[in-house]
Amino acid sequence: MRDRQHYDVAVVGAGAVGSVCALAHAQQGARVALFEATPERPSRLAGEWLHPPSLRMLRQVGVGFDVPAQAAMTHGFMVFPEDGSEPITLPYPDGTSGIACEHESLVLRVREAALDEPNIDFVPARVHEVHDGRVTFARNGAEASATADRIVGADGRRSVVRRSLGLTTKPLACSRMLGFVLEGVPLPLEGYGSITCGGPGPVFIYRLNKDSIRINVDIPLRFPPRNTADLLLSAYAPLLPEAFRPQFRELVQERRFHSTANTLSPRISYGTPGRVLIGDAAGHYHPMTAAGFTLGFGDALAVAGSRNFRDFTRRRFKEIRAPEMLALAFYEVMVDQRAEAARLRHSVYRMWRRNGGKAAQSMRLLSLEDTSEFSLGFVGATTVAQAVAATIPRSLRPAEWARAGRIVASLAARIGWFVLGVWQLRRARPHGEAKKKRFLDFVARALPASMRSNSAAEGRAAGNTS
Ligand SMILES: Cc1cc2nc3c(=O)[nH]c(=O)nc-3n(C[C@H](O)[C@H](O)[C@H](O)COP(=O)(O)OP(=O)(O)OC[C@H]3O[C@@H](n4cnc5c(N)ncnc54)[C@H](O)[C@@H]3O)c2cc1C
Repeated sequence: MRDRQHYDVAVVGAGAVGSVCALAHAQQGARVALFEATPERPSRLAGEWLHPPSLRMLRQVGVGFDVPAQAAMTHGFMVFPEDGSEPITLPYPDGTSGIACEHESLVLRVREAALDEPNIDFVPARVHEVHDGRVTFARNGAEASATADRIVGADGRRSVVRRSLGLTTKPLACSRMLGFVLEGVPLPLEGYGSITCGGPGPVFIYRLNKDSIRINVDIPLRFPPRNTADLLLSAYAPLLPEAFRPQFRELVQERRFHSTANTLSPRISYGTPGRVLIGDAAGHYHPMTAAGFTLGFGDALAVAGSRNFRDFTRRRFKEIRAPEMLALAFYEVMVDQRAEAARLRHSVYRMWRRNGGKAAQSMRLLSLEDTSEFSLGFVGATTVAQAVAATIPRSLRPAEWARAGRIVASLAARIGWFVLGVWQLRRARPHGEAKKKRFLDFVARALPASMRSNSAAEGRAAGNTS
């Protein structure tokens, strides 16, 4: 750190998003301080799958990866429906590719690039207080501080910068995620991440590098952590390719896996011109759509590249709306066992199988290449219309019509709550946190599978047990 401890920008948090933000500012000539509370290896279960736009944004700030030693190229997804029918292959549109890389290697790679940048001072210290223009941190047992024209909070879900703005840091629990690493086994289709439905929650499998693959198991909140091993062996192991099962069982029995809570906190506020929030500190969603890095890197580059704070927030709120809605709805459609959600899910499978154009459009939305609300609305409305059409009975039997009526009514009620929730979210943005609770309440009613309530019990059930 320099003698004169004033910077153009102080970035709190050298995760992937904070490091990209520091690089983007420094490359424009700003003097940057980058603070990190845990400068040693960031070993935890978190994002590893980068959609093509994320990879492009990393390249924009000069970060590349050594494939296949450090990372694996990815070309899209392969979905295994719960009825055991043929898997559905969904390539990224226009021949684009992403990568997957162990979280720790990913963060260290981006951080390393930031450390090499002459305009960035890396400060290995936890920031414990933030005021306008000043961050306070502990160094060699003593209190130290630095000032900056702009402070950027890239300090994750429990952000100290967010707290300093009087914004809540308590997210809504969605589910638990358990992460396993297997060695020396082939993927069902190399280059594709496979999503297996049919268990209590979805299972996401992808290659991390030439030797290892990752299995992420999503466990809905209704399953208490005390029965996790039994649940993994009885309900999830049979869904895995046979070659995976012996290693998977061994890892379960020896408890060699990481566990973390999947939580939701929508982007209500990006802070103030002097204290800007980005990445998970601004908001985060269930990781099923793997949108975290793309949204976070987008925040990081936009804050460095915008004319002013107003311009930045206007731009970002417009760009995040569709990915945010998709992240909210997609997990529920893929995991919920209720009849109306199953109808929707099968309508999605049908659309992907029969209509290559719609499948490509879905992948553009999922990978955040297309962030238009119109495209999302169109795909969503078509899927719902097809689900309703598929529900209409072929016979005149009253019992079948009554059942169909119940399914359509439940579908309509859930969509109604979801639309009201999205409307509340839009109202909350200009008015701040007070309206956020109403948004969460409405959306929780639309998404009963994992977000029944924000009760303490559920929070505990999803608690970090790694
Ligand atoms: C199980 C799981 C799987 C996921 N999978 C994907 C995926 O495949 N693809 C995807 O795009 N996203 C995924 N995500 C989301 C993704 O991990 C996050 O969006 C991403 O890590 C956010 O990065 P960040 O830099 O904003 O925050 P973080 O990664 O949380 O980094 C914050 C940094 O700030 C530091 N810090 C915190 N407090 C302080 C302080 N007071 N002072 C100094 N430093 C501080 C922390 O040590 C940390 O290094 C997943 C999330 C989970 C939980």
